[in-house]
Amino acid sequence: MSSRLSHPKIRPEHLDRDALIYVRQSSPIQVRDHTASTARQYDLRRCAERFGWPQQHIQVIDQDQGHSGTSAIGRDGFQYLMAEVCLGHAGAVLSLEASRLARSCSDWYRLIEICSLTDTLVIDEDGVYDPTQYNDRLLLGIKGTMSEAELHWIRSRLIGGKQEKARSGQLRFRPPTGLVLDPTGQIVLDPDEQVQHTIRLVFDTFERVGAALGVVQYFAANHLSIPTRHYGRARHGQLTWRPLDHGRVLAILHNPAYTGTYVYGRTKTRTVVLPGEEPRIKGRTRRIAPDDWPHVLHDHHAAYITWDQFRKNQRQLSDNCTSQHHDHRGAIREGAALLQGLVLCGRCGRRMTIRYMDDGKIPLYECNQLHKNLGEKTCQSLRGDGIDAAVAAVFLEAMQPAELEVSMAAIDQIVEQARRVDRQWEMIVERARYEAELARRRFLAIDPENRLVGRTLERDWEARLAEVERLERESATRPDRSVRLVDPAERTRILALAQDLPSLWNASTTTNVERKQLLGYLIKDVCLNRSETVIEVSIRWQTEACTILSIPRPRRSCDKRRTDPTALARLRELAADTTDRGIAEILNQEGFRSGTGGCFTQNRVKQLRHIYSIASGCPEGPSACAGGFRADGRCPSKTAADLLQVNVSTINAWCQSGVLDGIQAVPHGPWWIKLTPEIIARLRKPTRRSWTRRSAS
Ligand SMILES: [Zn+2]
Repeated sequence: MSSRLSHPKIRPEHLDRDALIYVRQSSPIQVRDHTASTARQYDLRRCAERFGWPQQHIQVIDQDQGHSGTSAIGRDGFQYLMAEVCLGHAGAVLSLEASRLARSCSDWYRLIEICSLTDTLVIDEDGVYDPTQYNDRLLLGIKGTMSEAELHWIRSRLIGGKQEKARSGQLRFRPPTGLVLDPTGQIVLDPDEQVQHTIRLVFDTFERVGAALGVVQYFAANHLSIPTRHYGRARHGQLTWRPLDHGRVLAILHNPAYTGTYVYGRTKTRTVVLPGEEPRIKGRTRRIAPDDWPHVLHDHHAAYITWDQFRKNQRQLSDNCTSQHHDHRGAIREGAALLQGLVLCGRCGRRMTIRYMDDGKIPLYECNQLHKNLGEKTCQSLRGDGIDAAVAAVFLEAMQPAELEVSMAAIDQIVEQARRVDRQWEMIVERARYEAELARRRFLAIDPENRLVGRTLERDWEARLAEVERLERESATRPDRSVRLVDPAERTRILALAQDLPSLWNASTTTNVERKQLLGYLIKDVCLNRSETVIEVSIRWQTEACTILSIPRPRRSCDKRRTDPTALARLRELAADTTDRGIAEILNQEGFRSGTGGCFTQNRVKQLRHIYSIASGCPEGPSACAGGFRADGRCPSKTAADLLQVNVSTINAWCQSGVLDGIQAVPHGPWWIKLTPEIIARLRKPTRRSWTRRSAS
């Protein structure tokens, strides 16, 4: 037991309460490696005992090991300590130095303030402070400020040094697979030929297909893998081959290191406080646009592609985004709509979207952003097949002079592609053979008596040999495309075909993606505007030249079944003095067809007369008696009653008494009355006169 120290500031009321010892190291690595500091912090327990605190009144708070002192958020131990001080349970707070408790002035001053209110002492390695006394508070305040300043200096020294190194391209980070650091620390191309070849294949395939997913599909279709070179730890320098995925392609395409350019500051991390029940501090990393990268040094090391190519790839990837930005084209997809990604609305200028009708056969170009976002009307919606055909025709016409060059280039490209895939496979098999040979040598090198090791190595050798066999088999069963394509007969056939671009364009083997790609090479965008009768199609070529087409609007489905207007006019002519049956016969003889394409019949003529209100054999002409005169000129009682301005019952009575010429198809059935102008004049006048006389008298 060490001798007890007495200090004038430590009074019995302090010793009655707890002594809180706060222990903290900023990071897990410090906790692991800086054990001396931790031991010194735990040693404060002895210090508290020597000042007279009984053992049961000493609490060590060490939950915050591995937490930075920049903020109280997330430090449970510190918050517990504050709570204990607030409640007046603490007689003293012990810590090695002020910086252990808080690296932020606001946390520190709050602690001091509360300590002074609850009469709690603050004890560090240098002395005992009573926050109720002004001089001690002043000193503690300075200690807190210094502790925050210390953190600032450490940080600025570290960051400043890093920035300075980055400015001269000296700050080193792990190069991406395909580039390695040589013994002198320079970045060079990976000496492994297969790795180089694969990385180049990624860039070349992207240039050809124009979409990251297309590269993934190409690698999958040809059973190719992508290498990853390990850095650090046990597997340093080793390669792992895995199937290529989308994220990896994007990582390669977005990485400027492949252009031989040294870039520092591609991302920025900002600290944010995430709200919630327990607020958390988190770093949010944001990508910075290439134009704003702070440190860019061109021609810093060996390259796979040029800087211009990199910028072109970035533009292409950004165009491929199908996000909210309406100035993005979107990647080419398989659908039938040829103008996908190219169509703009002629009314509002927005990019139009595509919808398919009839099981995806008929594309529709729609401008529905206003409808989708604001619930307003769809701007315009156009049937696409006619527009596509018109644009394709103009495109093929424009392509004529370039046809031969394009076809030659296309053949060379196909041959080159096939050759590269073959080379990849050669290298895959070569690597497997080398590894099998290595396993054989390892097996032969050991002492034959050492069966324990021998068995493992033998198994390894056998596995390697099986792998070689498998790869050789797979390689042999692959169709040998390069040989087939350089076949001169094939070549001439393709050349002949290519000279006739329209037939290639229409061939069933040509995919929509290829057609769209071709259109995209020449056409920048196509603006559509619908008027009453025509659709105006304005094609803007990549050269900024413009071609304007006007194509008739396709007939609406209701118009398609409509009777030909000339047939209707003829029907109108005939209706005055011909029966419906007669009209049908004449129309059929004259070669007219009904709206659905069939013959005219009596019923159909009758229906048409009803729809278009055409009277048949009407005595007063069509306009006066729209209300259903039969072909023989007879009308129903209601029409007769209206014409003669009497009741229907009067008409029926006149029919029965023979005043009117009426007939009934069946007994007690409706009357059909024959009215001539004379009858109308005779029967209508007296009634009107008698009515006038009656009202006058
Ligand atoms: Zn629009």
